[in-house]
Formats: sequence, C-alpha cells, structure tokens
Amino acid sequence: MSTVTDFINLNLSAIHDNNKLIAEYIWIGGTGLDLRSKARTLSGPMDDPGKLPKWNYDGTSTGQACGKDTEVILYPQAMFKDPFRRGNNILVSDIFFVKVLCDAYNPLGDPIYTNRRYYAAKTFGHPDVVAEAPWFGLEQEYTLMEKATKWPLGWPQGGYPRPQGPYYCGVGAEKAFGRDIVDAHYKACLYAGINIGGINAEVMPGQWEFQVGPSVGITAADELWVARYILERVAEIAGVVVSFDPKPVPGDWNGAGAHTNYSTKSMREEGGYEAIQKAIEKLRLRHKDHMAGYGEGNERRLTGDHETANINIFSWGVGKRDVSIRVGRDTVKEGKGYFEDRRPGSNMDPYVVTSMIAETTILWKP
Ligand code: ADP
Ligand code: MN
Ligand code: MN
Ligand code: MN
Repeated sequence: MSTVTDFINLNLSAIHDNNKLIAEYIWIGGTGLDLRSKARTLSGPMDDPGKLPKWNYDGTSTGQACGKDTEVILYPQAMFKDPFRRGNNILVSDIFFVKVLCDAYNPLGDPIYTNRRYYAAKTFGHPDVVAEAPWFGLEQEYTLMEKATKWPLGWPQGGYPRPQGPYYCGVGAEKAFGRDIVDAHYKACLYAGINIGGINAEVMPGQWEFQVGPSVGITAADELWVARYILERVAEIAGVVVSFDPKPVPGDWNGAGAHTNYSTKSMREEGGYEAIQKAIEKLRLRHKDHMAGYGEGNERRLTGDHETANINIFSWGVGKRDVSIRVGRDTVKEGKGYFEDRRPGSNMDPYVVTSMIAETTILWKP
C-alpha cells in the first residue's frame, strides 16, 4: 500500500543520517493576521536558534512590498519542534522582519507597519520592564467554519442551532463540534514546546478556546502566533476554516475574544493588590488608546451583552465578566496576583496588546 500518508510518515532517519533537516519559516503577512510559511533544507541538527540563517521572501505577493525592491528579509526569532514533520525538523518563527528599500509607504505612513514584533521587543527590552518580569496568560477564542459555506461547524445548513447554554465546555454529538481538531492542536502545541495551558469548548457552538502562558514578556506573543499557525495547519488537514472574527455570527451569539491575563513582579509579591489598583487606574486613563489596538471589528463584539463591557465605557470589577477588567476573587483574598483584560478581540495582535499593557502599566507616567 502506498498512500500520501505513508509517504508523510516516511522514516526520518534517512534524512537525519544525511545531517539534513527541514526548517519551516513562519511570518505574518500584509494584513497583519494572515500567516505565511515556506520551508528550506538546513544542515542539522539545529540546537541554537542564533545559528539559523536569515532568509527572504517576495513581499509583493504578501502585500508587504511596493515598487522595484520586493525583498523582505526574515530574521529568525524563535524555534520550535515541528509537530507535522517531527524528527529533528523545526518551525522557525521569523515574525520579525524588515522591509528593504521600499519605494513607497503604506497608508499608515510606516514602511514596516506589519513588523509589530520590532516595537514590542523595544518595550520588553526596557530595563524597567525587564525588572518587573511581566507575565501574560492569553486566552485565544476562535470559531471553526465549514469550508464550503463559511458557516460554523455543526450548525444546520443555512440555519441556526438551539440557543446558547449547553455548549460551553459541553460534551456530546449535539454540543461539541470539531473536538478532534482542537485536541490535535493541543497535542501538537505541546510537542512543539509551546506553553499551552489548556483548551475548552466555548459558549457558541463551533467556538473553542486555548490558553497560552503564563509566559514572560514577548515570549507569550511569540508562542500565541506559533500556536495560531499550528491551528491553521491542523485545520487545513481537516479541511476546516479557522475564523478569528471577533463576532463571527451577528445577533444573540457569543463573540470571540482574546482575554489577556497579566501580572508584574510587584503584583505577584506581598501587597501586590496595590500595584494592581494602580495599573487598572492607568489602563482606565488610556482606555481609548488601548481599544484602538485591540483588534479590528471589536466594536461588534463589545456591546455590553454576552459577558462583555461596552466598548466606550471603561469598567472593572471583582469576579464580574461584564467588565473591561476582571480581578479574580483569589487575587483579592490573597492581596496579590493578576488581573484579566477582557477587552482584546480574538483577532488582536498579541505583540501590540501585550506591549501596550506593559508600556501603560510600567513605563507610562500619567
Ligand atoms: P477564564 O476563567 O477567564 O476562562 P482561563 O483559565 O481560560 O481563565 O485563563 C487564565 C489564564 O491566566 C491562563 O492562561 C493562566 O496561565 C493565566 N495566569 C494565571 N496566573 C497568572 C499570572 N500570575 N499572571 C498572568 N497570567 C496568569
Ligand atoms: Mn478562558
Ligand atoms: Mn473564553
Ligand atoms: Mn477569560
């Protein structure tokens, strides 16, 4: 028997005996949300990310170059084990790149606007931020869609399922749709070395969540991006589309967010509750700025219904879910801990959101 699957599972030792490995280079395309990747052969095994070569791609095909010079250079930033090819093969996250000699600027007036990691790395490299060792726990919600209809997985053709209620953390053929994809993704992330904390079925049928972290500084965003990449690859095998739309179905259906749990060293230490209060006050003062960076279309989600707060009004509370910021009961009881920024939409760029939170709460002086 000879199938494509047999071929994929080809014994890798022959490749390794030749001291070769396959490195899949990953980066973010021109929309700021589309993931791209291509592979190359390297001499292996590779144990030091610092030894990974730079590479390039055609920026005109990703909406990231203009004019005559189309080359975009990839700077490897992080390395993971490849859960698809396995063996010594790796995923290389190059989601840090520079555009070279671009003739024109994008509408934002910035030639490297999709290189958000560059700006985040500046914030996370600041000595005051390093000293506070910021931790992030990112809850990524997403919706699985039928490829042909772009309608959520498990929903009746052109119709609606029974109202929300039984689906959150639900089990059974009428409540949970796409668990094989979710579970394969979970295992693949663990294999890759991503600090994935868990998964759960969400309130809207076909909607799921995974959590990354707590991870320190920029690592959280690196890991979330690669976890998104792995999700796209698993869903590709299953022939299912992943949607990061913050409100995939209008009406009385849950939106999808990316709650960002956050703490600093001061917040985790004795008396940390005071540091948490100060941080929340600073976030209140900068609410509008943060909302501008928390994801496209988030205003369709943050209506005040479905466990959200209204996008125009900053609020916080203990144990409440219809607020911008939630402080957990344990944190209040212990007088230290972390809080949850519930505002980011599922399509947010974690480089933007995590670095904004660190910037506002640690560096900014009102
Ligand atoms: P929810 O109850 O909002 O669904 P989850 O369990 O999905 O919460 O996610 C909570 C997240 O908070 C996890 O990703 C976890 O790693 C993270 N977390 C826990 N402690 C901290 C901390 N001290 N600082 C930052 N994040 C934390
Ligand atoms: Mn959660
Ligand atoms: Mn959730
Ligand atoms: Mn949450």
